[in-house]
Amino acid sequence: MYIDAHNHLDFYGKNLDKALNIIKQNNIITLGCAMDVQTYLFTKEINKDNPLIIPCFGIHPWKADENFMNLDSFEQYIKESKVIGEIGLDYHWVLEKEKYPYMRQVFSYFLKMAYKYNKITNIHTKGAEEEIYESIKKYELKTPIIHWYSGPLDTMKKLLDYGCYFTTSVDIGYSKLTEEIVKTLPLNRILTETDGPTSLEWVNGQYGYPDEVKNIVNQIAIIKNLPYEEVKHTIAENFKKAGECNEYS
Ligand SMILES: [Zn+2]
Repeated sequence: MYIDAHNHLDFYGKNLDKALNIIKQNNIITLGCAMDVQTYLFTKEINKDNPLIIPCFGIHPWKADENFMNLDSFEQYIKESKVIGEIGLDYHWVLEKEKYPYMRQVFSYFLKMAYKYNKITNIHTKGAEEEIYESIKKYELKTPIIHWYSGPLDTMKKLLDYGCYFTTSVDIGYSKLTEEIVKTLPLNRILTETDGPTSLEWVNGQYGYPDEVKNIVNQIAIIKNLPYEEVKHTIAENFKKAGECNEYS
């Protein structure tokens, strides 16, 4: 069993069937993160025929300014989701500072709800790592999954001490920082993710399918100097442990 702890099924477009076949053939448990309500409902529909896909509801920080007025209508989706995501803050890619108050409002709402319903969160932290660490403490979140961390290592250590899990993404083998992060993190807190087909494209120009997780496991095994099968097995165990407070399925 492989783990893709952060993907976006709505990004595959005409290649969706191929992606779903790859998920099935390789037995990849996949957190299908939402950008908004529409993409959540899309992923929920896919889950009906594809039990390996776990639909997650969240409002992506890039979509906060289009959704902050609808917070009251989200509770039903939060209640039924096993994992809340994608949520978070982004002060790196979002340059319009006038959008930040909406991002903070939406993020705080989701953290409040995650606390209320004892949910695991899948968090985007780009450029807001320290603020997110403070929020996680404030809302006493259980085993948050930090998506594709790329911030300061001292904040990462605080998140690690808190109990967070960290997804390693498709830039492993290309990014010195990611290598440093994987070296620093203990294997029992590492998960793998592909973040949709366009993330690998962003890294090396190639369209990414979910079986890219195999390459990520391989790269982690090289960095940690451990056998491939041991890394693969530990990541699957980590995923189960992260979900202990609220079974995935
Ligand atoms: Zn994402």
